[in-house]
Amino acid sequence: MDRNKLIKALSDEPQRQWDIIVIGGGATGLGIALDAVTRGYKTILLEQSDFAKGTSSRSTKLVHGGVRYMAQGDLLLVTEALHERGLMLKNAPHLTTNQEFVIPVYTYWDVFLYTVGLKFYDLLAGRLSMGKSYFINRKRAVQRLPLLKSEGLKGGIVYHDGQFDDARMAVTLAIASIEKGGTVLNYFRVGSLLKDEKGKITGVIANDLMSVNEYRIPGKLVINAAGVFADKIHSMDDPESKPTIRPSQGVHVVLDISFLQSGSAIMIPKTDDGRVLFAIPWYGKVVAGTTDTPLDMVTLEPRALEQEIDFILKTAGKYLTRQPKRKDVNCIFAGLRPLAANPDNPEATKEVSRRHKITLSRSGLLSIIGGKWTSYRRMAEETIDKAVKERIIEKRKCVTKHFSFYSNGNPPVSERLKIYGSNASQIEDLIREHPELGEHIHEKLPYTKAEIVWICRNEIPVTLEDMLARRTRALILDARASAEAGPAVAAIMAKELGFSKSWQEKEISEYKDLIKIYT
Ligand SMILES: Cc1cc2nc3c(=O)[nH]c(=O)nc-3n(C[C@H](O)[C@H](O)[C@H](O)COP(=O)(O)OP(=O)(O)OC[C@H]3O[C@@H](n4cnc5c(N)ncnc54)[C@H](O)[C@@H]3O)c2cc1C
Repeated sequence: MDRNKLIKALSDEPQRQWDIIVIGGGATGLGIALDAVTRGYKTILLEQSDFAKGTSSRSTKLVHGGVRYMAQGDLLLVTEALHERGLMLKNAPHLTTNQEFVIPVYTYWDVFLYTVGLKFYDLLAGRLSMGKSYFINRKRAVQRLPLLKSEGLKGGIVYHDGQFDDARMAVTLAIASIEKGGTVLNYFRVGSLLKDEKGKITGVIANDLMSVNEYRIPGKLVINAAGVFADKIHSMDDPESKPTIRPSQGVHVVLDISFLQSGSAIMIPKTDDGRVLFAIPWYGKVVAGTTDTPLDMVTLEPRALEQEIDFILKTAGKYLTRQPKRKDVNCIFAGLRPLAANPDNPEATKEVSRRHKITLSRSGLLSIIGGKWTSYRRMAEETIDKAVKERIIEKRKCVTKHFSFYSNGNPPVSERLKIYGSNASQIEDLIREHPELGEHIHEKLPYTKAEIVWICRNEIPVTLEDMLARRTRALILDARASAEAGPAVAAIMAKELGFSKSWQEKEISEYKDLIKIYT
């Protein structure tokens, strides 16, 4: 995988007419690119930063139908998402797991409500169910979750949902699209749209942020999958366009697993202010969150508010015998939900449907906003189908339902390397050939130097942050340890990718600044 080669192909053939140009390399755009490429359309995707740098690396990491949306009565949304959950677990078994959840219940009414509700959730999942839900008494609830406060506890409802690695799923989508013949570029920002004399969109003007070169890229269809930035693309199309996104911030904190001491996750369906709170084991840590704070500004690097962090820690302490404190936090990360704005109640966020919206502007800009990670495949299918229906592109059948990201190659010896899917054995080979690459990048982090080398060769990282935040999840697992690992990782990257000493120094210093936001 060589970013420069992809760009060279672009400059060698500047007049090449693309069928589809996708703006945005998050879950939505990457899903669309893969759908389009596998249908046989000539496709290019442009991401202004790294894949999943936006919301798509900052999720709760659940592949779920959304127990909460059932309470809102959106059964169609839940059923569709449960179906997609099943497909994602089948198609990307190396990046997804079946996670057991326990809802602690403190009243007999809640025992009834959640037992019945989750039975219904199982029913909606149908053949793609991940395991039956059931009630457990107080003793068994505490056995499962040893740190759960037992005072007033009536028991727990056990249910199953999927869990995944969001940023690794994103890079997997990007690489799969490239392997299938698509062009997928990170650090490429779309600055404006090209239009003909009738005002119809005919392509985009984009800049390679690494070389600052500008490219005019002609295409039949431009798709706006820019997440919370979708309105910026709408204004490129029509400066008078009205806002369609209501951004809402969600924060998570990452704690040591000793704050949960269990393989089961906790789900609190209704905290004091009506939000859902999860505490979920993930890569040997606990991810706890989230919040729902309406914002007016959008940025690629959102910052958690102190009150959001306090809320998560305090709420966790209400249910756990060990109260996590600010000093116990390994990492804090914030993400922005690209919720479709409700014109009748623009302030509402908890109540806003998580359903996606697809729109086509008069000039031909096809936009998709809202939705969730779990439904990325279906959202992509609907977006391309819409373009077919509008006769912008010729009809071709969607083939992603059974598109597997995992082929049974050599099974990895190490369970941890399973995240690299069929390629895991290549990392093991590297360690066999060069035993020094078996060293960890930091004593507190699970990653070896061999993984850094392999990622450089196969997953188009451009910055140190790409490597530590999204190709590996070092930043999230332990932000401070990741910064300490920075110099060693930067040195490997420089050697592999041909970067200079001054590149290393710049990256290390920028990364040190960045982790302040995460600590
Ligand atoms: C706190 C939180 C928790 C969540 N938890 C879950 C969960 O557990 N499960 C689930 O299914 N869903 C979850 N979601 C929802 C899910 O994460 C989002 O729906 C999804 O990631 C949105 O993806 P996206 O591609 O639309 O947006 P993004 O990931 O933000 O991608 C948009 C991309 O467009 C790029 N872009 C913008 N402008 C330009 C331009 N001019 N040129 C080029 N590129 C551009 C941006 O850089 C960005 O990378 C959660 C969301 C949040 C906020």
